[in-house]
Amino acid sequence: MSTSAARYHQRMGGTRRDEFSARTKTSLAARAGHRCSNLTCRRLTTRPAWQNTEEALNLGEAAHIYAASPRGPRYNASMTPHERKSIQNGVWLCKTCAKIIDAEEAAYPPETLRVWKQHAEAGAVRDSAAAVDQTGLLLADIVAARELLLSFCEAWQRNEPSMSFEIPFAVRTENSLKYSSDRVNAYHREIEPHIARVLVIARHILGSSHQAIVDLESESTDAHVNYIEMRECARNLQQLHSILELR
Ligand SMILES: [Zn+2]
Repeated sequence: MSTSAARYHQRMGGTRRDEFSARTKTSLAARAGHRCSNLTCRRLTTRPAWQNTEEALNLGEAAHIYAASPRGPRYNASMTPHERKSIQNGVWLCKTCAKIIDAEEAAYPPETLRVWKQHAEAGAVRDSAAAVDQTGLLLADIVAARELLLSFCEAWQRNEPSMSFEIPFAVRTENSLKYSSDRVNAYHREIEPHIARVLVIARHILGSSHQAIVDLESESTDAHVNYIEMRECARNLQQLHSILELR
């Protein structure tokens, strides 16, 4: 088709589509770790075929962030065909999610799809650095550390009646310090080793500069000071748990 004919065809809402090459599709799938990039889905997009024991079924699709043709969802007329079919304009999804993002395009703007893609690729980097089993064990460790911390917090609060929440924060903190040495020692003995262990493994999976790691590190060092810090530390553990669960 000549350039002018292609333009006419596009103006008339024709069927011209700027499809991805086979190479681009393969690369998108591999970069997402052969999982759907939708952060709430993340299902595998490949599985062994039952009938032909030498083959695998592809359950994924290279979806366009901006549509391949003028009538498609999120179409951007200012893009060139080259840009439209480039890997930058693709996101790897399972067939269900690929269908949903096009049927309900207003709920899935390009920004959302780009965030999915970015997180899915970062997840594939992390998965390549740690076994899945390791993440599962870590999730259990985090739940245990958080429960220990909360019950520690409640037990000490019962032992320190002056810690009532009816008195001002500054007085509460002062009272808290009066009891501090016993509680600090108990915290170092009973709680900190669990959080330290969680941090060692979590750093290996997420990298030591991940915000959730940095937050937990700084909070766990200060948590023995008072109950507010301890509850904040429990919140950081919960946050780390959510991040790892979404991977
Ligand atoms: Zn999906």
